[in-house]
Amino acid sequence: MNNSLNLILVSTPIGHLGSGRGGGVELTLTSLLRGLASRGHRITLIAPGESVVPEDCSNITLHRAQGIDQPSWQHADAEASIQIPCEGVLPRLWDLALSLGEEADAVINFSYDWLPLWLTPHVKPSLFHLVSMGSVSRAMDDAVSQLARWDQRRMSFHTHRQASDFSLPHQPTVVGNGFDLSGYELKLNTVGPLGWAGRVAPEKGLEDAASVAASLRETLLVWGLVEDARYAEAVEAAVPPGTIQWLGFKPTQLLQKELGCCRALLNTPKWNEAYGNVVVEAMACGVPVVAYDRGGPGELIQNGVTGWLVAPDDVEALAVACGKVEKIDRRGCRHWVEQFASHEVFARRVENWVRQGLSSGDGTISPCR
Ligand code: UDP
Repeated sequence: MNNSLNLILVSTPIGHLGSGRGGGVELTLTSLLRGLASRGHRITLIAPGESVVPEDCSNITLHRAQGIDQPSWQHADAEASIQIPCEGVLPRLWDLALSLGEEADAVINFSYDWLPLWLTPHVKPSLFHLVSMGSVSRAMDDAVSQLARWDQRRMSFHTHRQASDFSLPHQPTVVGNGFDLSGYELKLNTVGPLGWAGRVAPEKGLEDAASVAASLRETLLVWGLVEDARYAEAVEAAVPPGTIQWLGFKPTQLLQKELGCCRALLNTPKWNEAYGNVVVEAMACGVPVVAYDRGGPGELIQNGVTGWLVAPDDVEALAVACGKVEKIDRRGCRHWVEQFASHEVFARRVENWVRQGLSSGDGTISPCR
């Protein structure tokens, strides 16, 4: 491709790629690396510590920065100050990004942090930001809004619901997300157990899914990194022993294999989830999703077609919806993902966004599709 771009992707500073601490951002970034590389772009990845590039992405150059992980904004108070630890990895990632960025067409940021947003109007490299969470704190809300007022084309969001958390002068650019579907097998069985996947942390609402399983006298299979051990213990203690089967954090290949055997995935966010990777990964395996109509999942799931949406925090309605999952055609779930959330489709949307942002401004900003 003769008009290929020279792109630098900067990973999350929360943990190295493969640690699971970066949550959905890790998979998003990996999918995009594959998608953009297969479109002929030259890709450099900057990532913390022990990160490795996926095995099939040997044409990607990796630069690693060492340092202390950045604390996540996920659990910060609304009025929390901006923090960067001594010897933190975040500024080191951006030292590298700014020097390598001098030669690149664009630098795409995947961290939800103040520093890269603040730097953007002050530096020569063209910095772009895929904002990975909704509103969590006033400091970050302000950083997003201020940059949007400078040039909103430099930022995109995963869903409209996520973007609606922020004060933006123009319609948001929504790029969704993408998955390498060759790694997800469609399974047509309709009689498996109920499943739940995600970081085990209060904003994910595992207690509601566990309560549904208990009310149906079923076992709930749970995959994911236990981020908050005390919370996990409290969830376990609130339901009859054996209700939850803890399966731990599995690599995608194993996760999809086990998840595919479920008759439904429960998704119970207590926050304005930016996207909800696990929702789409389940659908990629043909698994319908029963979820709260809140945040990204509420925008991704088509009620009655790829799963069932119920009013947020209505545990009884979740349990009732679990009784209707056999009405969902598992092929339809996979079909939706193929149409709207493959890594090819995602990479195309991200490329369009970046190209628009690089074009000289004409005073109008239109959403990219
Ligand atoms: N995940 C995984 N193995 C597991 C459970 C989860 O790799 O055993 C990954 C999953 O594939 C998804 C991420 O963890 O990409 C969770 O992302 P999501 O968007 O659902 O939530 P986040 O953690 O970003 O809030």
